[in-house]
Amino acid sequence: MLLIACDFDGTITRHDTLHLIVETFGERGLWQAIEPRLRAGEVTLEQAMQEEFDTVRATPEQVRDLVLREAGLRDGFPELVAWAHERGHRLIVFSSGFRSVIEAALEHWGLGHLHVESHEAVFTPEGCRLVWSDRGDRCDECGRHCKRHDLRAHARRGERLVYIGDGVSDRCGAAMADVVFARAHLARDLAEDGVPFLPFEDFVEVRERLERVSTLAA
Ligand SMILES: [Mg+2]
Ligand SMILES: [Zn+2]
Repeated sequence: MLLIACDFDGTITRHDTLHLIVETFGERGLWQAIEPRLRAGEVTLEQAMQEEFDTVRATPEQVRDLVLREAGLRDGFPELVAWAHERGHRLIVFSSGFRSVIEAALEHWGLGHLHVESHEAVFTPEGCRLVWSDRGDRCDECGRHCKRHDLRAHARRGERLVYIGDGVSDRCGAAMADVVFARAHLARDLAEDGVPFLPFEDFVEVRERLERVSTLAA
């Protein structure tokens, strides 16, 4: 059996909802200024996110409408969810984004039943407050409260871990996995570090690959 751990922003969605929200309701272009500092390790992901969301002014309804209109669902994801369910594999969403946003989008796509591990954000016209979920002790790898904690909490003996992601916050999850699917930043980082992964651009490819992996294991 597989535990399929899937990132949300830029993985399940075509566009990163955090960037969409900041570009629309916050200070445009701020992320381009912050990201090099994040990649260089000068700020933590939490600090970078708080810095950009400090500028966001919007109601929860405005944020929800924007995300439903602009995020876009990557091809083949509902089919992957159905396939995993049929085969008895578990698929869980592990995100460094916000629960209310993720659940509204999943609900909209008929996937409201999926289990989500994430942080939360409280949106108001006066500003946005980020609410960090408890991710235990700092991770030895990245020094943050990263997804590794949530992944460990969900891991079951005898289950192989598949990790699917696209960004900086997926590195530790990917390092724990037996099979990694990566695109964008994550693919470039893993290639630089010489970590094996399978590139993907949609979930049709992911499902076909997993079909083969799980057949081999059976
Ligand atoms: Mg992502
Ligand atoms: Zn970590």
